[in-house]
Amino acid sequence: MSPESPKNTTSNKTKAIAAEPSNFLRQIIEHDLAQPLYQQRPLRHDADGNALPPLITRFPPEPNGYLHIGHAKSICLNFGLAAEYQSRAGGARCNMRLDDTNPVKEDVEYVDSILDAVRWLGFDWEANGQTHLHYASDYFAQLYQFAEVLIEHGKAYVDSQTADEIHAKRGNFNQAGQNSPYRNRSVEENLQLFRAMRAGEFSDGQHVLRLKIEMQHPNIVMRDPVIYRIRHAHHHRTGDQWCIYPLYDFTHCISDALEFVSHSICTLEFENNRPLYDWILNTLKEAGVFSDPLPHQHEFARLNLTYTLTSKRKLLQLVAEKCVDGWDDPRMPTIVGIRRRGYTPESLRLFCERIGVSKADSWIDMSTLEQALRDDLDAKAPRATAVLKPLKLVIENFPENGSEACSAPRHPHHPEWGKREFNFTREVWIEADDFMLEPVKGFFRLYPPSNDQAGGRVRLRHGFVIECTGVELDSNGQVKQVNARYFPDSKSGTPGSDNYKVKGNIHWLSVAEALAVEVRLYDHLFTEPHPDSGENNFLAHLNPNSKQIITAYLEPSMKSVQAGERFQFERHGYFIADAIDSQAGKPIFNRTVALKDTWK
Ligand code: ATP
Ligand code: MG
Repeated sequence: MSPESPKNTTSNKTKAIAAEPSNFLRQIIEHDLAQPLYQQRPLRHDADGNALPPLITRFPPEPNGYLHIGHAKSICLNFGLAAEYQSRAGGARCNMRLDDTNPVKEDVEYVDSILDAVRWLGFDWEANGQTHLHYASDYFAQLYQFAEVLIEHGKAYVDSQTADEIHAKRGNFNQAGQNSPYRNRSVEENLQLFRAMRAGEFSDGQHVLRLKIEMQHPNIVMRDPVIYRIRHAHHHRTGDQWCIYPLYDFTHCISDALEFVSHSICTLEFENNRPLYDWILNTLKEAGVFSDPLPHQHEFARLNLTYTLTSKRKLLQLVAEKCVDGWDDPRMPTIVGIRRRGYTPESLRLFCERIGVSKADSWIDMSTLEQALRDDLDAKAPRATAVLKPLKLVIENFPENGSEACSAPRHPHHPEWGKREFNFTREVWIEADDFMLEPVKGFFRLYPPSNDQAGGRVRLRHGFVIECTGVELDSNGQVKQVNARYFPDSKSGTPGSDNYKVKGNIHWLSVAEALAVEVRLYDHLFTEPHPDSGENNFLAHLNPNSKQIITAYLEPSMKSVQAGERFQFERHGYFIADAIDSQAGKPIFNRTVALKDTWK
């Protein structure tokens, strides 16, 4: 909390952020789009007869979990680049693709949440009246056909070793792999076996289809990778139509090529897979399936954010082990969680723009995300008063049943938003932290009078100047009540108010009017900045105080707040009426972020 200065300081911080965000992919795209092959793309057409924009990107999540803040970076990058280049000759677009080739781990629940998250971030997959929503499972027939093409060209074979044997003979970084005894099967035998695999004549694991590249290749990814396996499993879209499923490396590049993706942007862990990506597409090009310009893969550094996790698998573990209250727990770095916490789509886009895109792995501090939200909400969020840790203050010289109407602007820079009205009464709630029994040096708020000094003097914001006259303690010596007198000619906005110079300026609420409301104070989910790095068992670093539920007092106007409305509670931070648990007339607030970064 910023006690002495009620002024909001967030807008000043905007200037401190690096001016020009960098994105090396722009240079690559600029270079490519200047080449004739790309410039001629609008002369070519897709299967529906639509001209091809020179730039097509895609966002290709696997629907096996909820999207997280890392995915937001990829979404903003892919959809953002397409939006940026849309006005260039020939245009640009970003396809939305669900990479749903693993029937066992995927679910429509995830598909729906992914589409919802992308839309919420402000993007869509419409371009020129066409919907570019694709599912890798829509390509199963073509993928199968291309696998047969590869077999026919002697570039793929059916292997009948067990998974363990295949694994053992792959070798490692220091050791070359060994050829499978089935590597030299004839094209006819391979075709017949592959068709029988498809027809369901074998059980899971009996055979696989592998590319015939090189078992001695220095890059392990290139050692005859498996591209199809038998899985007698129900798929959420294709049902029981297939009992063989293509693997990621095979599916991904072909899906890109079928969609005429020009720039296939992914995270650095796929760098080793790029030669395989190129090998498959070039081999199919030589076989007459695809033509130039083929899609190219470009890697960028994934987002790592301190005090949280960006791995679907680990997030799933947090949910499964009930360390959090579900995928949309406001402490989760999932898009649903961040959204429920109170983040705006604009703040996430601002964050992604600020962190830029590079090739070097690094950690981004959580405070960068929080600052993006403050900078977005400062101008947008109406102000309100909340007392989070209430202490009763009694104005001894104010009449018992009296009241004095006061008001404050809804937003300091938007007078047109109007004012909020409240009453000054004899008993008010103040923040317990605004009083000290024994004031430390430099504490300019309330403290009782002592032998050598008068009691502390402050302005009750938008109200009167008061001076502390005494304090009442309970039997444990804890402060129970603070007493004060007020200066009737000091009311804010009246000519007399200038006669009072005080250093402290604190917020308050009339006891008679204040609304008792549940407020959830969220903090970092982990106490460690890098909870899952190295040997760390991330579960051991959960922050026990990441969620604190309190009953706070809010100003009376907050009774009619709608779920999802955001406010700045002055001197505290930004809060949102919880979208799920709030009820009409009974809001529940989540603290999205404090006004200042207080994390030590
Ligand atoms: P996770 O590692 O969390 O399981 P994933 O990579 O398996 O994520 P996908 O659904 O395959 O998840 O990812 C979809 C896209 O999002 C991919 O292009 C991937 O590179 C990108 N992506 C995933 N995590 C991050 C991250 N932390 N930062 C940036 N992009 C990411
Ligand atoms: Mg992945």
